[in-house]
Amino acid sequence: MEKKRYERPHIVKLDSGMPGKFGMRNDSPPTTHIDGVAVTELVEKYGSPLFVISEHTIRSTYRKAYKAFSTRYPKVQFAWSYKTNYLPAVCNVFHQEGSWAEVVSGFEYDKALANGVDPGKIIFNGPGKTASELMKAAENGSLIHIDHLDELYLLTDLAGEMKRKPLVAIRVNMDTGIYPMWDRFGFNYENGQAWDALNKIMLSGKLELVGLHTHIGTFILGANAYGVAASKLADLALGLQQKFNHTIRYIDMGGGFASKNTLKGSYLPGADTNPTFDDYAEAITTALVNSGFKPESLPLLILETGRALIDEAGYIITSVLANKRLSTGRRATIIDAGVNLLFTAFWYQHPVTPAQGFSQYREENTIYGPLCMNIDCVRESINLPLLNKGDKLVIHYTGAYNLTQWMQFITLRPNVVIIDPDGTAHLIRQNESNDSVSSLEKTPDYLIGIK
Ligand SMILES: *Cc1c(COP(=O)(O)O)cnc(C)c1O
Repeated sequence: MEKKRYERPHIVKLDSGMPGKFGMRNDSPPTTHIDGVAVTELVEKYGSPLFVISEHTIRSTYRKAYKAFSTRYPKVQFAWSYKTNYLPAVCNVFHQEGSWAEVVSGFEYDKALANGVDPGKIIFNGPGKTASELMKAAENGSLIHIDHLDELYLLTDLAGEMKRKPLVAIRVNMDTGIYPMWDRFGFNYENGQAWDALNKIMLSGKLELVGLHTHIGTFILGANAYGVAASKLADLALGLQQKFNHTIRYIDMGGGFASKNTLKGSYLPGADTNPTFDDYAEAITTALVNSGFKPESLPLLILETGRALIDEAGYIITSVLANKRLSTGRRATIIDAGVNLLFTAFWYQHPVTPAQGFSQYREENTIYGPLCMNIDCVRESINLPLLNKGDKLVIHYTGAYNLTQWMQFITLRPNVVIIDPDGTAHLIRQNESNDSVSSLEKTPDYLIGIK
């Protein structure tokens, strides 16, 4: 037998993710349709770029999440986090599914009222509530989550002028093993601040303490942290029972569950590795059930998860404006949606797929947006088939935070549509125009015209 020839080992750097068993993943088919509606048809009717929301995905994700908790715990309530996406059409899909509203400003509070949410089902969080906002929420019977002592004192003062006792909870921050700790919100558990606030509320007698709240962070990749947090809130609740013979109605575990997105720098795709609703639910409900609550007096469990319920329901359809070679020879593609629309591109590697058939030849590519700003990069490195000017791409998992944090910067913001479960698209936010933007601008007389 002939001796095999020696072959020198060589290492090739891969910089666009994980290879599969057969090499680089190039198995994703084109995204020609979203919920049965052709991408080409959507662009023809509503233009490019275009935000698309799938109502079907919102509802099925919500039901999956609710089931994960309600099969493990007797009393579960979700509250939709408005700042994650507060388009009325989106909020009302969640409210129709049974969600309460979770708001973090007077502006969001009014949005929830305008959507028709029962004020008793609005949770008012956040560090910046004004006196008039607190008055209104308290008199409406909304649930006010106190963030700091100044707010506690203000609300205690205002309570004297009100017809009803404000319903309150305190926000608690704590060490759950996730760092950096979000200790800027609420009262700390370990150093006694939380007990200090609880004592003040109980001894003043002016506020009705109905719950305990925490929100430990966002995109939390370790479900166990929630178990630690739930145990600590349960400990406070049981302490209140013992010390004041006072029973709270609910424990609110906040949000922070990861969506399927992939954090930058991750080795594996988030869709394969991030915890599932079942993982989070198991951690939280086990901690509560195993704590000292009597089975018949377990508090209502509230969840304010935002990102994980909406990210997968959002798409951006975008068009290729140009291709070019960078000085290194690397291929780059310029598209008509940038970080002005996709704020979350700073943290996540959003999947991007072509919307039409393509050849087998693929190449490493950097995707830039249309802004004249160096930071306008949608994907630093992605393996894509060759694209032509005018081709369409679909950016995935864009439903969370982008429709609230997007910017009217350099260009105008585009249309947003929702696709209903029957496959019909409805416009839910009109694109901006020069007129709609300039309608808020004022020019003093002496600056009108150029002489
Ligand atoms: C932002 C926020 C949420 C939602 O957070 P996600 O990470 O999107 O789940 C929930 N509760 C509070 C208090 C928040 O500020």
